[in-house]
Order: sequence, then C-alpha cells, then structure tokens
Amino acid sequence: MEPAFSLLTPSQTAVLPLVFDSPHSGIHCPADFNTQVPVEFIKTGWDAFIDDIWQPVVEQGGYLLHAHFSRMYIDPNRAPTDIDPELLDKPWEICQPTKYSERGMGLIRRFALPNKPMYDRKLTQAEVLHRIHHYYTPYHQQLQTLLDALHSQFKGVWHIDCHSMKSIGNGMNIDAGISRPDIILGDLDGTSASGEFVDVIAKAFADKGYKVVKNKPYKGGYLVSHYADIAANRHSVQIEINRALYMHEQRFEMNDNYQHFKSDTAYVAQQLASYVSMQIGR
Ligand SMILES: [Zn+2]
Repeated sequence: MEPAFSLLTPSQTAVLPLVFDSPHSGIHCPADFNTQVPVEFIKTGWDAFIDDIWQPVVEQGGYLLHAHFSRMYIDPNRAPTDIDPELLDKPWEICQPTKYSERGMGLIRRFALPNKPMYDRKLTQAEVLHRIHHYYTPYHQQLQTLLDALHSQFKGVWHIDCHSMKSIGNGMNIDAGISRPDIILGDLDGTSASGEFVDVIAKAFADKGYKVVKNKPYKGGYLVSHYADIAANRHSVQIEINRALYMHEQRFEMNDNYQHFKSDTAYVAQQLASYVSMQIGR
C-alpha cells in the first residue's frame, strides 16, 4: 500500500519548531476510490509541486509533511465529520456537513467540477471509515505528534499550511470568475497566528516582488483552525500560491519560471527560519 504521507526532517542539526504541511500535493488514487471522473478532473484539485516548492524549508531547520493521496479521495483540510449525507447509501449520525459540503467539496468530494459528480453510486459507511482510518487520521496524527513534540521542547511552534490556487476560481469557489493575487495568507482574520509572524511572511514575498493579500477570500481552513492556539504560542498560517507563477495550469506541468519561483520560496523559508530562531532565543 502506498504510504499516506512523507515527513521530511531538517537536513541540519539546528532543528527549529517550524512545520510546513502540504495536504493537497498528493495525486495517488487508492484502488477503492472507484470514481467515475477522469484523472484530468482529479488533477484540478491537486496542489501540484507544492511539496517540492517548499522543500527548501528542511535546509533551514524546518519540517515538511506532505500527503500522497489525492484530496479528491479524502481531504485532510476538512473536519472529519464534514460529510455530505447525499453521498451515502444510508443515514449516518456522524455527518455534520459545513459550507464546504454544501459546495460539493467536503471531507469526501461530491463534485469534481461544477455539475460533475465524483460517483455514479452511493458510498458505504465502511468505505468512508476506511479512508478516514488509513489516510486522514494518520496524516493528522503525524502532524499533531510533531507539533506537540516541538512545542514541548521549544514552548512555541510555527505551522504553515501550504496550498496552491487556480489563477481564476471556478463555479465551486467562493470567488468564482475573479482573478487572484500572487499570494493569499490566511490567519483566520488575525486569530490563528501573531500579526508579527504573518507580517514576516508577507514581507518576505513582497521583497521578491509578489502581490500579497491577507484573508481575502481565503482566511484559512480546517488545518489552520484546528492547530492554532496563539495563547499557547502555537501559530498557524495558510499560504495559497497562484499556480500561474510556476506551472502550466491546464497541462499540470512546471513552467519556465519554476526554478526561479522555487528560489524565491527558498528565500521566504529562510526568512521564516530566522524569525523562528529569534523567537526561541537562538
Ligand atoms: Zn490546497
């Protein structure tokens, strides 16, 4: 069985409490997926290359966790109960669908693209539980374990939840049809991380010439809200990168700017590492 995730650990001995997680850069489709949609549709939800783009953080003393499975199969950036009852063959009391499920993109996707259903059948509770137990929960357990260990060692931890976004949203997105900026930072309107930390991220991207927006329209998802606790010195920020900066959006291939962009994210990772070093008094 394909492992659910990889955890890249710091390549140097000066370890920092800095953790990047990339929940959507996997494209593995397990054998029991049994979706009716073609792989081209699956790829539209894929944060292609995002784990590679942020890989430089491990050279700065940070960690990088990335999922291998497709978020279209099960999405780590959703609450485990965010399940649309319409997907299921019978009622299930654990279902607590949110606005994500209403748009067809809850824990288990109902639609791949607008009006393109993922399944021509109903799912059983057993197959949803299989996805939770073998993919969703191991990913979250690894992230929780790592954040807790670093927090207990350093009395603080800084988490970045890494994503990409289409340059223009589709009908399932909250900003359908609108051109997006280069970078959107989500800190749940200032409640998931210190303003100082968010400003360091924003300045690092701005230093390299990118247009950065905060919380509009993406404020941060389940991962950020679940792992943030500013009062306990646990900071969590979502970074959305515009795909047009580094890939052909239709072909899902790196574009000519890829290596240049990756050198800029290496600069951002280095700026974050030096900020976190200061916070732990190093
Ligand atoms: Zn994503």
